Amino acid sequence: MIDKPRSPDVAERETLDGGFSRGLGFFFQPSEAYWFDAHTHLRGIQTAAELKALLDAWFARLDAYRLGRLLAIVKDEEAFEACRAVSEKDERFSWIVWLDPDNPDLELLQHAFDCGAVGLKLHNADIMRGLHPHDIWLADAWAPVFDAVRESGKPVLWHVTQRMSASPYHGGGAESYWSEGYRRGVTFTNEDLLQVTLKVMREHPGLVVQGAHQLHVGFERLAELFDTYPGLYIDTSCAWFVRWADVLYDEDREFLRRFVLRFEDRILFGSDAPLAPGAIDEYLVQGFLCHARCILQLRLPDEALQRVSHLNAERLYGLRSLEPVRRGNYRP
Ligand SMILES: [Zn+2]
Repeated sequence: MIDKPRSPDVAERETLDGGFSRGLGFFFQPSEAYWFDAHTHLRGIQTAAELKALLDAWFARLDAYRLGRLLAIVKDEEAFEACRAVSEKDERFSWIVWLDPDNPDLELLQHAFDCGAVGLKLHNADIMRGLHPHDIWLADAWAPVFDAVRESGKPVLWHVTQRMSASPYHGGGAESYWSEGYRRGVTFTNEDLLQVTLKVMREHPGLVVQGAHQLHVGFERLAELFDTYPGLYIDTSCAWFVRWADVLYDEDREFLRRFVLRFEDRILFGSDAPLAPGAIDEYLVQGFLCHARCILQLRLPDEALQRVSHLNAERLYGLRSLEPVRRGNYRP
């Protein structure tokens, strides 16, 4: 069953209706009910109408690829009201608020939560750029923010580290953020930054962290971290990626599939799509598909596929699952 998982209805047809349709589509593989993209960025939005138009444009392209909902990272307080208005009406849209390292603003956080934000976003980019101490999150001023987030049961989507090398395969540059920091005399490392986040997690037990981009660690380290920190999750953005013409090697697929099956509750699908008015184009669509393709090539059993594609993110962010939308007779 693990080796050649099928769509659950294949087994159903064995006996249903006296087995009349037994064997019909016997080769159908498990398919995601829908994708919940748990890592996207929202920019350039002020009104609910603008936000609605942007979502309509994005889903118009990706509905055919079963994008069902997304989690957007929002920084601009002027957009909070628009996010509230849209998230109340449109279950495709949920959002989290981004606070800067030097802005542990409880009131701003509360305003965002009042407007329906389902979590907090933190990004270490400005720390790597040398603009803040590497352990700024351990400052007294941040403790009440982490406590408030933990008590609310909402997760932190945290961009903690940054790969040093370029990654031409998926398009990432070399020494992003770090090169700027080195010019300012930065001497701390990715390991130092990761240790700060882990310390925050130890000091605030129960805090749930979605490590952006797999925390830029390999799978051996990730397994250790998962085993040690039950509140730690990762999203697949910028790390789980298969280009349009590529097919995973069998060994790699087996490795990744085993990893997913071992940690199938801890992995959230994400694409890091930067959504802004006028920015929806083939680039963004293909970026999303490269992320989705990587998961689909793993040939996961149905249950694990549903978890990674949407159920894990829904559980973490406290959202009820959606009815998959089907238009007409096909749902590609
Ligand atoms: Zn991002």
